[in-house]
Amino acid sequence: MSYWYLDQNKGLKDQSLPDLAEARQKIISIAKKIKTARLENNLSCPWGGCSTCKSFEAILKGEMRYAGLGKYKSEVYVQK
Ligand SMILES: [Zn+2]
Repeated sequence: MSYWYLDQNKGLKDQSLPDLAEARQKIISIAKKIKTARLENNLSCPWGGCSTCKSFEAILKGEMRYAGLGKYKSEVYVQK
């Protein structure tokens, strides 16, 4: 496998892939954690709060107002 950042490299850079069985197991493990969290409706931040979760937590607290769908059909919220 190779990749090429046109603006940074003059040619292809080799990139080794992870062990497929190991990667598959890691993804399945994460997917099971997500499934369990959704079933239990326990979607709290595993780190006790982080910058990624901050905006979602603001939505849940009612601090944001739904504004519609964005360019890529993602939900857009604005601060009340
Ligand atoms: Zn978080």
